[in-house]
Amino acid sequence: MKVPKMVVADYLKLLRNTKVTASKEHALVNQDVRDGFVYFRTSGAILAFKNLLRASELGTQPETEVYRQKTIDYEWDKETDGLTVGLVLERIENIRGPDGSGYYTGRCPSCAKRGKDSDSNHFRFNPEQSVIYCFSQCSRFDIVGALK
Ligand SMILES: [Zn+2]
Repeated sequence: MKVPKMVVADYLKLLRNTKVTASKEHALVNQDVRDGFVYFRTSGAILAFKNLLRASELGTQPETEVYRQKTIDYEWDKETDGLTVGLVLERIENIRGPDGSGYYTGRCPSCAKRGKDSDSNHFRFNPEQSVIYCFSQCSRFDIVGALK
């Protein structure tokens, strides 16, 4: 049987189209990438790829992504007393990201209250790992409090 494959750039476009950011099974780092192609060799990889294509056709997200994001939201809620990832993204000034490691950067809301962090690079957060912190040593409590 011929192994299904796709050009890496097309695969990344597919991830963008289906708004996949959290699923480990679809992440490019977990794919079998060789010579500019993503190969789908195992039945699991083929199934994941089919789900991705189907989501793209339907204009939705693959189920695993929806599930993964719900899990992230839940972990996040536990860590931050109900502050959702969406609210953080909305309220943090000058937010950028996520970078390759899943981290967002922005202006720390606690620093901002004191007129600090005008360069907007103290605040870092990674919803997937429930990490939220400030380079200027504001506590998580300070940050979450300033966001409410
Ligand atoms: Zn701060």
